[in-house]
Amino acid sequence: MLTLIEQLGIGTADLAAAFLFLYGLHRMSSPVTAPSGIFVAGIGMAVAVLASFLYAFGVGTAARSNLPVNIGLAVVALGLGGGAAWWSGRKVAMTAMPQMVAIYNGMGGGAAGAIAAVELFGIKAQGKTELIVTLLGALIGAVSLSGSLIAWAKLDGVINKPFRVKGQQAFNALVMLATVAVGAYIVVASADKAVLVLAMPTTIYLFFGCALALGILMTLPIGGADMPVVISIFNAFTGLAVGLEGYVLQNPALMIAGMVVGAAGMLLTLLMAKAMNRSVSNVVFTNFGEVAKHKQGKIKGSLKPMQPGDAGIAMRYAASVIIVPGYGLAVSQGQGKLFEFVKLLQAGGVLVKFAIHPVAGRMPGQMDVLLAEAGVPYDLIVQLEDINDQFASTDVALVIGANDVVNPAARTDKSSAIYGMPILNADQAKKVFVIKRGEGKGYAGIVNALFYADNCDMVYGDAQTVLIKMIEAVRGLNLPAVA
Ligand code: NDP
Repeated sequence: MLTLIEQLGIGTADLAAAFLFLYGLHRMSSPVTAPSGIFVAGIGMAVAVLASFLYAFGVGTAARSNLPVNIGLAVVALGLGGGAAWWSGRKVAMTAMPQMVAIYNGMGGGAAGAIAAVELFGIKAQGKTELIVTLLGALIGAVSLSGSLIAWAKLDGVINKPFRVKGQQAFNALVMLATVAVGAYIVVASADKAVLVLAMPTTIYLFFGCALALGILMTLPIGGADMPVVISIFNAFTGLAVGLEGYVLQNPALMIAGMVVGAAGMLLTLLMAKAMNRSVSNVVFTNFGEVAKHKQGKIKGSLKPMQPGDAGIAMRYAASVIIVPGYGLAVSQGQGKLFEFVKLLQAGGVLVKFAIHPVAGRMPGQMDVLLAEAGVPYDLIVQLEDINDQFASTDVALVIGANDVVNPAARTDKSSAIYGMPILNADQAKKVFVIKRGEGKGYAGIVNALFYADNCDMVYGDAQTVLIKMIEAVRGLNLPAVA
């Protein structure tokens, strides 16, 4: 048993950790304070981890002999996990961040599932409520683990097509029912404590097996443009699972951290679904995102190549330019050169703004982070709903490595995977320049009619290389800055 002083120590540390999580999250609400917010939340995590070692004081005499080994194992696990995270965090390319976030998210779900497994296989018989909460956390955590791994494979390109077979939805529903049924059996069978949970390991294995299969089956058919919703759902799931297991362990820091992540993930899911103009259930339970069956009609017009220098000079003489960044900008790491080019345009009196689509890139908020990294002032960055009306009165829309988020098929082609998704109205600008390397499709795998439009010219090449050429061409004009 813990003494009062030890309990007070753990309570205070948990409270401090919870406060640091919430304060860190609050600071993450603005890009200016976000880096310090991440640091503060990190300290909160360190406090919570250290506080968990205090529980060692409360271990019963029977288990005391195992304590040195268990603490040793925990320290080794912390060293290995922390070391691997530190190394991969420093090494990861900006474009591989979404995959890394998916993996870490899956690990969070897996950790919650592992806590549940320890509780279920534990020697003690559990109260009914405790058991139901444990099973719920196990289910959600396991689904999040296996689903996030599939999301990782899809984001990394290891799996590059949604996998669908006939009757898949019915089969998925059956697996879900089976998981719930096995869980219910565990609760009923152990209700009178005559059958301890420990006495049915096979049933517990079956429960985890079904839950893991469910995560895989749920995620495999989802593809194309729907991935942002999937990523944020699993984010919410992991938070929820951790919160539920926090309740089982009666650990306030875990409960609060889990619920904060769960709530934030749920909000993000709703925002992403809104950005796609879909309901969450529509994304998860229907075949939205299907690419294979979609037959795209013949596209009118032709692709018209243009030299980077000519496009750069044309923009220098324009009155207004709206820049649409997309995934390709992150790939090329051209954000620094982009801002350099923008400053040249501004020096020439051109009005420049950045238009951000909520699902641009491969991670919610990726474009905001990319531009913040280059030092672009926040007042130049405008979100979709606030800028879309301005394209029609703008001289040039400069689309850099973006594709799906400016694809007019979302407005007109009912059979398209992205039909109904609000897009940035780049096509309505007087002139459109598109920087991309070739005829590569976007993540949703659809050809973009905008690129063939009369008012659109294609500036082929890696975004950063093209921007360097544009800068050279504008500098070569030797025009005086406009006051
Ligand atoms: P897209 O994936 O639609 O298009 C990116 C384009 O960038 C490609 O067509 C490619 O063409 C071009 N490109 C790639 N590398 C370079 C480079 N080095 N230089 C120049 N161009 C390059 O990106 P968007 O941002 O428009 O749309 C995001 C898509 O990803 C949406 O469908 C969204 O749903 C999905 N998604 C978003 C997530 C999120 O959370 N934001 C998560 C998962 C998916 P080319 O090969 O010819 O150069």
